[in-house]
Amino acid sequence: MEVKLSLSDKFAILRDIFHTLFPDLCLGCTKEPKAQKAAFCINCLHNMPYTDHFTNKENDVTKHFKGRISLFHGAALLGFREGSIVKNMLHSFKYKKRKEIGEILGEIAGKKFMESSIFIIPDMIIPVPVHPKKVKTRGYNQSAVFGLAIGKVIGVKLRDDIIIKEKWSESQTGKSRTARVKNVNEVFVLKQPELVFGKHILLVDDVVTTGATLEACCLKLKEGNVGKISVLSIAAAK
Ligand SMILES: [Zn+2]
Repeated sequence: MEVKLSLSDKFAILRDIFHTLFPDLCLGCTKEPKAQKAAFCINCLHNMPYTDHFTNKENDVTKHFKGRISLFHGAALLGFREGSIVKNMLHSFKYKKRKEIGEILGEIAGKKFMESSIFIIPDMIIPVPVHPKKVKTRGYNQSAVFGLAIGKVIGVKLRDDIIIKEKWSESQTGKSRTARVKNVNEVFVLKQPELVFGKHILLVDDVVTTGATLEACCLKLKEGNVGKISVLSIAAAK
């Protein structure tokens, strides 16, 4: 039996074959093709929810620290909403070994950092630590990948051996904010405190939701008498 295919069917089949052979798809929606060397398709590129945090001192990141930690500045590259491409991207980055997502977002964040009138070049970049067991299964610490890419653009070294995670943390779900900070504070350890003494540290993370994890990292840096702390994340919830 001969199957007659319409022109659009043929096109769809060819496109599928092409995508199977050359899976150069958008890092945002993972559906649409993207131009070579680009990270996103036209649609995602135009709908990327960039924040105004690089030029705005009062923002969704800094508000979490107000009255708790005195930050030099804090920012997120993107706004975070449930069901958005940002959530999709972060999920692929964290759990599907799509390391390049963190690298490209780090590069963009680094460029925005350089253009920012508020941020100043720090002495060192430190990522929020992930337990070594998780690094092993994921293949990398996602915050370190993001931070490393920022560091390449702004010319600052990343150190992931200064704040480390030694204990397995309990689930944070259902805990009060204070309990969350205490819980994470207990699992983080500051190694080589002399290296942060009087220095300006840029802490990097993937998503800021309550800010409890970053706050615990700030407290660790304060144990080492840090000079200034800035914070930069890929995304922040409203
Ligand atoms: Zn896309």
